Amino acid sequence: NYLRTCGISTECSTRRVLDTKNVTVNAMVSFANHTPKPAAHSRINNLTVAVKDNICAANLPTTCSSSMLRAFTPPFDATVVELLKNAGADIVGKTNCDEFGMGSLNVNSIHGPVINPFKTSEGRSAGGSSGGSAAAVAAGICDAALGTDTGGSVRLPASYCGVVGLKPSYGLISRWGVISYADSLDCVGVFGKNVDIVNDIFNTVSVFDSKDPTSATAEIRMKADASIRHSLPHFDENQAEPNLSALRIGIPQESPPHSTSPEYFPTELDSTILDSLRRVIKRLQNLGATIVPVSLPSTPYALSAYYVIASAEASSNLARYDGIQYGRHVPLPVGADKTKPAAVYAYSRSAGFGNEVRKRLLLGTYALSADAFDNYFLQAQRVRKLIRSDFNAIFRAPDVLSSLSALAAPTDGVDALLHPSAIQSAPLLPPPKRSQANADDNKPTSAGSGLDTYLQDILTVPASLAGLPALSVPAGSAADGWPVGVSVVGQWGCDDLVLRMGRVIE
Ligand code: GLN
Repeated sequence: NYLRTCGISTECSTRRVLDTKNVTVNAMVSFANHTPKPAAHSRINNLTVAVKDNICAANLPTTCSSSMLRAFTPPFDATVVELLKNAGADIVGKTNCDEFGMGSLNVNSIHGPVINPFKTSEGRSAGGSSGGSAAAVAAGICDAALGTDTGGSVRLPASYCGVVGLKPSYGLISRWGVISYADSLDCVGVFGKNVDIVNDIFNTVSVFDSKDPTSATAEIRMKADASIRHSLPHFDENQAEPNLSALRIGIPQESPPHSTSPEYFPTELDSTILDSLRRVIKRLQNLGATIVPVSLPSTPYALSAYYVIASAEASSNLARYDGIQYGRHVPLPVGADKTKPAAVYAYSRSAGFGNEVRKRLLLGTYALSADAFDNYFLQAQRVRKLIRSDFNAIFRAPDVLSSLSALAAPTDGVDALLHPSAIQSAPLLPPPKRSQANADDNKPTSAGSGLDTYLQDILTVPASLAGLPALSVPAGSAADGWPVGVSVVGQWGCDDLVLRMGRVIE
């Protein structure tokens, strides 16, 4: 009903059973119609996988939930999709998302909002920007799904929908064929009902790709494996009660009440969320893990730095959609001066991009302008460096991407960090508006606007700025009975450790 009130069509022609499940959640925006290639020995043979609509899959529309790309159907597969198909996965279709990945609630979409499947009658958000992927897994439409995570877009929806979500180390999964939002932060991520499925998909797609200039080389992967094997603890996550006595887990310090000192846990954090975290900590402690309070002094500046860097990179990446070479062309009105190319571009771009994207493009262009560059863009890059050093100062595994940090890694450091994935359970969707399908009508509304939306990312952006692996695992529920997740964060390249810890927690 929510979707109908929004004016969203609930009709699809193929994959009728999945479609029925999709009708109330609006997680899928197109269904594939193909026969998967069997790969008998693959662990993901026949697994059904949905793909976020900013990742290209041959002959399926890839709209990025934007009016700008409404008519775009790539003739090729992104490297990740090709790897999945070769391993026998059944690609079921494309998932709803925030436009070009910009948002935290999956409300900035020409396809309309995603309704959280946990209890559709409550009309809550599935989170964003990969809300459709998380909801598709939670609703049983597919076994696993691909999303992208630039600042939290996999971990936040995973937490809100009660599924597992991995943002891998930056550079491990190829971005070739993935439509860029902010290149230096964008990661392809994986959703699944449990950690095993996420692990199998991750192992299938985590390979070097010469087509992606930021793909981690085989050499750096080997270097990471070697240094991790040397410095990380052994435990058997397959046992019911594994012995974790070799494991050191860092908990970023909670702010003391009324403290003005910068601390990791923001004051906006719902206190019942901390209760779930405490239960997980207790269990890990009972299994022998050492819990270490740690401090990440630069993290309070992470959110501001993230939004400056992400918007600046977006303004550059999205410049290609000029309505002539790329993107939807909207002809100038009769009588307009056609000799001014800027007007031609502006007309198509104003019509093709929704409000949130336009806001980011303005902010990003300003941050890169001569007047603002030092105070905003460079300052944000400095903060990003400090955040990376904060993490390096607490992990005992060295940062293999930096030549200096092997010396600096503390021997009494921690193996991973644990913190809540989100500051609250799934928020309510903004009240329905007529005709969300029109991008020009895609204006922010109460629950989806203002600083509140941006605050949802406060716990996830530090790992994004540092390029670290982070896994959100369901960890019970908040006081309202809705799911919440905890995040395990590791040093760059420690994705395997993070996943093994996830198995202990789930
Ligand atoms: N909510 C954040 C943003 O809008 C993160 C989105 C993402 O990770 N793609 O930028």
